[in-house]
Amino acid sequence: MKYCHQCAEPLILRVPEGDDKPRHCCTACDSIFYLNPKNVVGTVPFFEDKVLLCKRAIQPRIGKWTLPAGFMENGESSLHGAIRETQEEAGASVIIQNDSLYTLFNLPKINQVYMFFRAELANLDYAAGLESEEVALFTEQEIPWQEIAFPVVKSTLEHYFEDLRRNRFPVRMFDVHHGEDRSFTTSLISASDFE
Ligand SMILES: [Zn+2]
Repeated sequence: MKYCHQCAEPLILRVPEGDDKPRHCCTACDSIFYLNPKNVVGTVPFFEDKVLLCKRAIQPRIGKWTLPAGFMENGESSLHGAIRETQEEAGASVIIQNDSLYTLFNLPKINQVYMFFRAELANLDYAAGLESEEVALFTEQEIPWQEIAFPVVKSTLEHYFEDLRRNRFPVRMFDVHHGEDRSFTTSLISASDFE
């Protein structure tokens, strides 16, 4: 961020009075611009013992498989954003239950929070949207485990199939730490159903 969104004068990075972090501050009109984490919302669209995945037609991770997910828009709820992304990327209509929240991932290194909701397919009329090359239903055995685009997706899918076997779907929260060597560590922080 280089220029003020209000008056187009240059911004400087300084700690405003009463704050403890440097912020982008306008030298002319005193506006302060805060950078905060973005929310990425998506679904685990399921039908019987299968999950619907999208093959990415866009970067990053083009050609890899993912769950439908994307950035929340202003003015929408997390759940409605997830339903919208499912419609846009997989052309899929879903049925939501009131215990649909499933996984939450904090990714402080890249300033993102991911949320996935369980969503049953309303029908099998799904189709690849603009950001997908292909969409398909997979059983646990059929999932291309080596070709999953993001660790948060892989982790959500692993838990989903494990939970499917006992038909219990606790809400789980994770922290994802990015290592210097591009490695990831995913730690479970809380779950609504410890055993
Ligand atoms: Zn300004």
